[in-house]
Amino acid sequence: MADLIEEIIARAHREDRVYLLEHECKAILKHIGVPTTSCLVAKSEEEAVSMSEAIGYPVALKILSPEIIHKSDAGGVKLNLGRGEVRGAYNELVATFKDRHIVGVSVQEMAKPGREVIVGATQDATFGPVLMFGLGGVFVEALKDVSFRVIPVTEHDAQEMMEEIKGYQLLLGHRGQSANVASLRDILLKISDLVTAYPAIKEVDLNPVFAYPEGSLVVDARMILAPPQSPPTLGGRFDAVPQTDLTAVFEPRSVAVIGASATPGKAGFNILDNLLRLGYEGEVYPVNPKAREILGLKAYPTVDQIPHPVDTAIIATPARVVVEVMKGCARKGVKAVIIISSGFSEESEEGRRLEEEVVAIAREAGIRVVGPNTTGVFNAENNFTSSFVPVDEVTSGNVAFVAQTGLFLGVLFEHILSSQHFGVSKVAGLGNKADVDDADILEYLAGDAQTKVIAVYIEGLGDGRRFLKVAREIAREKPLIVFKAGITEAGAEAALSHTASLAGRAEVFEAACKQAGISRVHSFEEMLDVVKAFAFLPPSPPTLGGTGGGNRVAIIHYTGAGCVIAADACQKEGLELAEFSPATVEALREITPAWHRIRNPVDLWAAIERVWVEKTYGVAIEAALRDEAVDALVVSFFAMPGWETYTPDFDLLRAAGKPVLFCVEGNEVLVGEAVARIEGQGFPVYSQVNRAIFALSNLSKYALLPRVSPL
Ligand code: ADP
Ligand code: MG
Repeated sequence: MADLIEEIIARAHREDRVYLLEHECKAILKHIGVPTTSCLVAKSEEEAVSMSEAIGYPVALKILSPEIIHKSDAGGVKLNLGRGEVRGAYNELVATFKDRHIVGVSVQEMAKPGREVIVGATQDATFGPVLMFGLGGVFVEALKDVSFRVIPVTEHDAQEMMEEIKGYQLLLGHRGQSANVASLRDILLKISDLVTAYPAIKEVDLNPVFAYPEGSLVVDARMILAPPQSPPTLGGRFDAVPQTDLTAVFEPRSVAVIGASATPGKAGFNILDNLLRLGYEGEVYPVNPKAREILGLKAYPTVDQIPHPVDTAIIATPARVVVEVMKGCARKGVKAVIIISSGFSEESEEGRRLEEEVVAIAREAGIRVVGPNTTGVFNAENNFTSSFVPVDEVTSGNVAFVAQTGLFLGVLFEHILSSQHFGVSKVAGLGNKADVDDADILEYLAGDAQTKVIAVYIEGLGDGRRFLKVAREIAREKPLIVFKAGITEAGAEAALSHTASLAGRAEVFEAACKQAGISRVHSFEEMLDVVKAFAFLPPSPPTLGGTGGGNRVAIIHYTGAGCVIAADACQKEGLELAEFSPATVEALREITPAWHRIRNPVDLWAAIERVWVEKTYGVAIEAALRDEAVDALVVSFFAMPGWETYTPDFDLLRAAGKPVLFCVEGNEVLVGEAVARIEGQGFPVYSQVNRAIFALSNLSKYALLPRVSPL
């Protein structure tokens, strides 16, 4: 019987229609168990009357015409018709549309008034089919109060979609009207399934769906089809990519530097120099037809003349010779190449053709390609790098960075190394992503024991669905922080459905991140703030997300202003201010002057004046760590000339097992010293309390991620 749907689609295609009429959509909905108003098709006045009699009054009549998409705008909807009104309404409809191709007039029961919502599906250029939910009527038109998820959605996704819209409270119950949320969730899931099972259905608009306390009813439906024979857009190049692993990209035992140079400052020199200075553990073979020796290493004219095995080649030659070089790599049996050279698809059509040729050779030979137009990779474990930007000593640690920009391995990496106290495990700059893309790297990093936290900078994604699938699997094991730039409004193409006109790239990307459990950030600064929290603190601390609610924070600050800023930040980021237990209040009372009110956030200044910094912070931190109503702590203190800077009792902090984030303000030099001291002990420090709270909120959301089985 699934073929009822196939048949309806096939009939539309035969009639050269790319959309389904209301009665066809409702037949499909009925078939998949979504309740709709009845929908009979009258071809004459007499039929309209007898159908109305059978349905019972009042009824609604609507024009059914492949030429009329927005029926009420065109005057094609007659509502609330009593027994005497059906003939007149029918004739009026037929007269209004006499010059149009009319299939008939649909006769349906009048649904009783309910809360109007819209459920829709459309196609996103990056992620494929997406689902939409929103309040219907003027709310969808004027307020765009809608939410999205990438299809297929889980029950959890469907529930979140509803809770996300501003009008959710209206659904729950406002002035006596309330919606049956479970029935709406059911419709969302069924539309997700429908679009997944029938890729020919490109867009769906259920607008409106009437929601009642006892259930929901689809009143109007529209579906847009893919033209016949057009291949389904699911998946993109999903299966086309060879899934050989990336071991050779990060862990080569031997590497050829093609385009090696003896001239300091040139890329071909810096790469070699980096490998030698960093102490890369494998064999290094410079390749340059004009040199016999570079930096003390024997040079070879071509890669296939190297008399030893070569796992990986770093290519730093002019773009025009890269194809020739690739052929040599293929003959040599190289497993991976990292193409530093630019002048490919990022530059010109000619460059794009070159890039395609390079990939074709690589596919044929089973070679993975990183780049072109990039600095490539860095691995702190074996000190392998392909970067042409001088890299100095690197603190090895648990954070991996993946970036679209090649220069990440240059300036930004230097910034991280010189300003941060967490260590780095791997870096990958992907450049043009001709072959290896973000999802490939994520798959590799998932299996990399050294990497515990992954930060990704993305501009564009080729295959959003694959990225989402891989990210979703990994994010539950290792926190994934994504900074996506280059988000612009979707081109305002003339859209046939409401859903399509409402779906922007930015909203869909945001939704995809939520579905995958990605920590979404909007700047490098935020990225490092969040990375630092994950790098230092356990990603799912027992106190976060556990049984006790998991997001109740104690804020300890030395000024009232800091307390106000912190309270605002908690509200914005969805963290709760913990309600202190009597024991905590009592402990604070003992050090605080009687006139000072004790509450969370705690303003410590009055106590500091009385019992001094060391004792004040000691008492406050210990009390908050002990308090069972506190899941996490944000502690702000100052570093000022003439004062002794506070140093926490790190053993006490570690023993408590609660996430503690610090904020230190004041003299830049003294602050720097305090940061080094505290981060050296494994606790993150921020320059402002709101930044600490933003980072903590990401930790808390991560701990609360449903650990459901991945899609
Ligand atoms: P269109 O969206 O093509 O203009 P609709 O079928 O959605 O046409 O009808 C317009 C409006 O009329 C709906 O938003 C709804 O408020 C109302 N309406 C349509 N059909 C019914 C029905 N069977 N019962 C109650 N109200 C209806
Ligand atoms: Mg409608």
